[in-house]
Amino acid sequence: MKLHFANSAFIKAPERLVEPDGSWFQTRQLRVRYGILEHPGFGPVLIDTGYSSHLFTGARSFGLRAYAAVFDPVLEQEGEIAAVLQRLDYSVEDVRKIVVTHFHADHVSALSSLPKAQIITHRKTLTTILGQSGFANLRHGIFPELLPDDVLRRVTDIAECRVSDAPLTLGAGRDLLGDGTVIAVDLPGHAVGHFGLCFPWLDPVLLYACDVQWMRTVLDKPLPLLGRIAAHDTGAAERSSRKVAEFRNAGGRVVLCHDPALTSFDLEQPADV
Ligand SMILES: [Zn+2]
Repeated sequence: MKLHFANSAFIKAPERLVEPDGSWFQTRQLRVRYGILEHPGFGPVLIDTGYSSHLFTGARSFGLRAYAAVFDPVLEQEGEIAAVLQRLDYSVEDVRKIVVTHFHADHVSALSSLPKAQIITHRKTLTTILGQSGFANLRHGIFPELLPDDVLRRVTDIAECRVSDAPLTLGAGRDLLGDGTVIAVDLPGHAVGHFGLCFPWLDPVLLYACDVQWMRTVLDKPLPLLGRIAAHDTGAAERSSRKVAEFRNAGGRVVLCHDPALTSFDLEQPADV
C-alpha cells in the first residue's frame, strides 16, 4: 500500500495571510494537493481532487468566475488527475472510491471527471449544501455547479462507517474502508463537515489534516488571516489546529493541503520549487 500526494495547482498569497507573524511583502507559493492511496483491494483511492480546468470552463456562475479570478490558481498539467493516475499505471476508470474531506472548490473541482467513483463523505454536509441558497454557499467558497448531478446517490456516509480509535492523541474516528487503513478524524471549523484522514499503518503515523492550517509551522499559533476569512467557525478551527499540533507533538506526522514545504509523499512534478 502506498500513499502519494499530487499538486494540482499553485496559488500565490502574501505570507501574512497564511502565517500570523508573516510579512505582507513576501509571497508564499501555496500548493493545492490531493491524495492517491494505492490500496491492494480497492485500487487507487482518491483523497479530494484539487483544482482542475472545470474551474475555468463550462457552465459557471458569476460567483465561481469571480472566485477563479481572485485566487487565480496556476494549474499544473502534470498534476492533473488523469496524468497522475497514468503515471501510477492506472486510469480514471480505475477510481472506485474518492474521499471528499469538504466541499470547497479546490477539493471537488474535478469530481465530475470521476463519474463511477463512490464518494465517501458526510452525507449531512452535502444535503446542507444542496439545500441552502447560492449566496450561503458562495460566502463559504462552495459552488454546487462543480458537483455531479448524481452526487447524493453516490455517497457512502461516514456516519455509517465503523467507529475506530485513531492513534496517539486523535481519539475516535471512522474506519472509511473497513480495514483500518484510513481513519477519518473530525477537524471542525474550517468548513462545514471538514475532517482529516489518518493512516495508522505508516511509521510514523500520518494525519492528512487538509485545511486545518496552511503551514505546518504555525499549527500551534492563532489562525492567520486567511484561516479566519475562510473559517466556517473560527473557534472550532483553532481548537482543531491545536488538536493537530498535539498529535504532531506526540510523534505523529502531519501533511496539509496547501503547505509550500515538500513532503516525502509528494510526487515529483517538473514545476516544483
Ligand atoms: Zn478548504
